[in-house]
Amino acid sequence: MSPYRRLINGIKNILRPQKTSKEAVVDAVLQPQTSVQVKPRVNHVPLHIPRAEHSLSRSMISKSAVSVLYKLHNAGYQAFLVGGGVRDVLVGRRPKDFDVVTNALPEQVRSLFRHCRLIGRRFVLAHVYFGDEIVEVATFRAQHDKGGDGVIQDGRIIRDNVYGTIDEDAWRRDFTINALYYDISDFALLDYTGGMKDLDEGVIRLIGDPIQRYQEDPVRMLRAIRFAAKLKFTIDASTSAPIFQLPHLLKDVNTSRLYEEILKLFFSGHSLQSFNLLRDYKLFDHLFPQTAACLNNPEAVTLLNHVFKNTDERLMLQKPVSPAFLFAALLWQPLQQQIAKYLAEGKTEQDSLFAASRDILTRQVQRVGIPKRVSLVIHEIWLMQPRLTRRKSKRNFALLEHGSFKAGYDFLLLRASAGDSSVGEYATWWTQFFHGDDAARNNLLFAEEPRQATATAKRIRRRRKPSKRPLQKDAPPNINGSDE
Ligand code: ATP
Ligand code: MG
Repeated sequence: MSPYRRLINGIKNILRPQKTSKEAVVDAVLQPQTSVQVKPRVNHVPLHIPRAEHSLSRSMISKSAVSVLYKLHNAGYQAFLVGGGVRDVLVGRRPKDFDVVTNALPEQVRSLFRHCRLIGRRFVLAHVYFGDEIVEVATFRAQHDKGGDGVIQDGRIIRDNVYGTIDEDAWRRDFTINALYYDISDFALLDYTGGMKDLDEGVIRLIGDPIQRYQEDPVRMLRAIRFAAKLKFTIDASTSAPIFQLPHLLKDVNTSRLYEEILKLFFSGHSLQSFNLLRDYKLFDHLFPQTAACLNNPEAVTLLNHVFKNTDERLMLQKPVSPAFLFAALLWQPLQQQIAKYLAEGKTEQDSLFAASRDILTRQVQRVGIPKRVSLVIHEIWLMQPRLTRRKSKRNFALLEHGSFKAGYDFLLLRASAGDSSVGEYATWWTQFFHGDDAARNNLLFAEEPRQATATAKRIRRRRKPSKRPLQKDAPPNINGSDE
């Protein structure tokens, strides 16, 4: 295929209209006649695409990755770029990172580079450091029946350190589009599994028997969703159909690995599409059962749609995104339901919030291993909400200095933008207060208080004993109880 044709294909991929998740599922199910299973064929001659016939040039690869490739090559090893670095460049996207693969063993790689560390147990990989950038270098892998340090338990890969040839390595990769090799020795592409055709046609296809490949590593189900959402590709029927039957396999995956995978799904700039596909394939129910149980509530869905839209926009503008903020939104509706239960049992609002936060996070980390440092921030964001919707007082100055103010305030804005009428006026008030100078802030403190209050807050206000302290004129009582 000519470079011109590849360029056109790249542009077509970018312009491909985004399918709704429903359309994608329908596509997948209605495709059996086109579905092809790729059977591993070791010693098979790959499709060799010379430099003149593809669009991947060294200028599109990071300088660090190019220098790693050359250093390995000059030391007499084979060296290829593989995975997302090849795939994304060929469809006209900027790769997230560059993965190198070689016949050098990890120890041999380490001895070639000054700033290099071997990491991992499941896969031993060499990380070569260039300032902030890391180039990941893997050694070709083979089937487990070839011996070596590979372990399979109950069909799942526990350790995968069985080294092999490039041919064997290709068949161990997940999807055909991820198994294209760029050879630094002659700049050609090698295609063992039909990845080039699938890339041109916009198809995600697992290599080998899909059920077996999902059993070996259930995270491949999430990766299929991620690439479909990111590339706007269709998941081939043979690859998509088993997913509906296998979400339960995720329960055996290390929860920290699932956390990392969730971040990739939601922080790749296509979070809404990822969310919809996760729901369609019933994987969301496994990962976030508490949230899934609330999705018949349109308010919950609206809030999530807003947080995903907001996340994608921030990423597009290269602004930072926060896992805690995203999880605070994902778990907000279950939190509200749990708070309501405790309030109904007669607990105070503050006690209800604390107990509900603990319950929701404890249950969630059993599915997705949210690190402690992140769950603490989620808790703080939730705790900030009643503080930001209480009566005006001088304490609001101190709140501005609070370490979690900004995250809590942003979350209040999110709730307001998602149409939570109980917080709309507070969001406006805090925006003016936050951006105002001292004089403006003082004016705001003595101006009319936002009059809206949540139903919950009104209930609590009714329950509270009369205060001995006279209420400040034109300031309604603290609607959310004492939280300091
Ligand atoms: P991106 O970096 O954009 O997330 P990627 O395809 O490069 O996408 P990586 O996680 O960086 O994903 O993995 C690099 C390559 O390693 C993949 O393209 C694939 O060939 C292989 N790979 C990664 N994870 C698996 C897996 N679970 N099973 C089989 N092969 C995998
Ligand atoms: Mg990668």
